[in-house]
Amino acid sequence: MNIDLLRQLLDSLHEDIDDTLTWNALADWGEDNGQWAAGKRDTPYLKARLLKEACKIAAPTADGRELIGWVEFHWEYAEPGYSSKNGLIATGRWNDISHDEGVFPNHKRIVDDAYPSILCILLNDLGVDIEWADEWSCCSECGRLVRTSPTDWHWTPSYEVGDGELLCLDCAPQANPEQIEHMADELGEGD
Ligand SMILES: [Zn+2]
Repeated sequence: MNIDLLRQLLDSLHEDIDDTLTWNALADWGEDNGQWAAGKRDTPYLKARLLKEACKIAAPTADGRELIGWVEFHWEYAEPGYSSKNGLIATGRWNDISHDEGVFPNHKRIVDDAYPSILCILLNDLGVDIEWADEWSCCSECGRLVRTSPTDWHWTPSYEVGDGELLCLDCAPQANPEQIEHMADELGEGD
């Protein structure tokens, strides 16, 4: 299978392929439950999941299949200035699997498996926002994405970390007066 074949496969999928069987099959594929998936019917989620599975099957190397397996889908950002254009964001490591052949300076880069980057291109075609997994994390509370890697010198983190949880500023206790009051009460009792 190559990128043109995958594009044809995608084009041949009818827009309203959201029958229950397909959604249940998606739920069986892994991290999602059917209820979560059903809430994503107005996004390109189903096609995106099918593409991920198709690329994982087509990828010729175990490393490529592993990278594709790590691709995760999210529905919104909690990072200021970011908004998902179609309600679906994919985070992943989109590099080709490759190796050098020959000795410097006459070496050349040989691509062993282009499917991680092919998946990236196809998801982008589909209108999915693409991000690098090592630059983003999920809020433990609401599941939205926050950037964990600086973009420039005036960037500041929009999350807080504590107790093994990462919380966006909307979910962090500081943003919630009731929780602060509760914490203050608990501290008072300790005296
Ligand atoms: Zn949150």
